[in-house]
Amino acid sequence: MSEKHVCLLYTGGTIGMEKTAQGYAPMRDFDNVLSRLLSPLSGTLPRYTLHQYRVPIDSSNATPADWQKIGRDIADRYSRFDGFVVLHGTDTMAYTASALSFMLQGLRKPVIVTGSQIPLGEARSDAAQNLITALQLAACDKINEVALYFNQRLLRGNRSSKVSTQHFNAFDSSNYPWLAEIGIRVEMNRSALLPRATQEKFELPEYGCGRVLALKFVPGMSMQVLQAMLELKPEAIIFECYGAGNAPDHDPALLQILASANASGVVLVACSQAIQGGVTLGAYVTGSGLEQAGVIGSLDMTFEAIFAKLHHLFAMGLSPGSVRTGLLHNLSGEISTSIGSAC
Ligand code: ASP
Repeated sequence: MSEKHVCLLYTGGTIGMEKTAQGYAPMRDFDNVLSRLLSPLSGTLPRYTLHQYRVPIDSSNATPADWQKIGRDIADRYSRFDGFVVLHGTDTMAYTASALSFMLQGLRKPVIVTGSQIPLGEARSDAAQNLITALQLAACDKINEVALYFNQRLLRGNRSSKVSTQHFNAFDSSNYPWLAEIGIRVEMNRSALLPRATQEKFELPEYGCGRVLALKFVPGMSMQVLQAMLELKPEAIIFECYGAGNAPDHDPALLQILASANASGVVLVACSQAIQGGVTLGAYVTGSGLEQAGVIGSLDMTFEAIFAKLHHLFAMGLSPGSVRTGLLHNLSGEISTSIGSAC
C-alpha cells in the first residue's frame, strides 16, 4: 500500500458536471460520485483528501483571482501532502497551469492539473482514467513541477494548450516534449522534467484584475481597433502575429501608434498564430518594424503562458521596463532562451 497522501482540489469543469435542461452544469454530489469511484481502488492508489471549492465553476468563468486562490490553497497545504491534483475545466486549464507554475516556483513535489472531456459517471467518460492516473502521478517523486495530465500525456503545464474540443487528446505541448507517456507502462521523459529544486520559491502576490489585453492580427484589420484598446489604458497587449512574428507594415500609422504606446509604458508582446515554433522578430521586414517600435518577441512561449506571466510580473509590482526584461527570463521552464534558426 502506498504511504503517499495527495490533496485533491476540485475547482469545477466538465469532470464534475451533469446534464441539466440548460446544458452541463456542476453536479451537487461530486464527493459521493468520487468516493464511489475511488473506494474500491483504495490500497492501490495514494490516500487522498478532497478539498472541494464552495462554488465549482465552469473554467470559462475563471479569472486571475481564481488562479491566485488555487495557488494559495496549494501553498497553505504544501507541507502536509506529498503531491497535489487540481481538477479543473479544460477550457482555461492551460492558463491556470501556467499561472500556478509562476506562483509555485522551485516545486519539490508534483502538482498535476487534470480534467475530462466527458463528465465522471457518464458512459465512455475519460474522467476516471485521467483522475486515477493523475493521483498516481501526484505521488511520483520524479515530478517536481506543475504538469498537466490528459489522456496518456503528461505535459509541462506552462507549455500546454488545448488543441481539441472533440478528441480525448485535448492537450498538447507543441514546443516542448511530453514529460511522460502513460500506456501500460509509465514512460518518463526524464531529461524533459525540471530537476528538483534545492528550495521552493513561491511567489503569491495579489493578482487583482491586471489589464492585459490581446489583439489578433487579421487581414485588413483597422487601426481603430488598436486605438480603442489603448484607450482602455492596458498594462500590456499581446499581439497574435502571423508566422514568425509579422504584422502589416504598409500603414506607418500602426508602428507610430505602437512606438508611442511603448514609450508611455505599455508592454507590447508578439506571439505567433502558428501552433508550433516561436517568434523571431526581424526575420522578415514586416516583423522588424514591430521590434523597432518596442514590441518584444515572446520566443517559444504559449499564448497562455505569456498571458499568465504578464499578470504575475505586474502583480509582483514590477515596472514596465522590468516586466519587459522579466518576460524573457525563464521562471519555470516555460521558455527556451534560444530557439532554433535555419543555418
Ligand atoms: N467548459 C468546461 C470548462 O472548462 C469544459 C471542460 O471542462 O472540458 O469548465
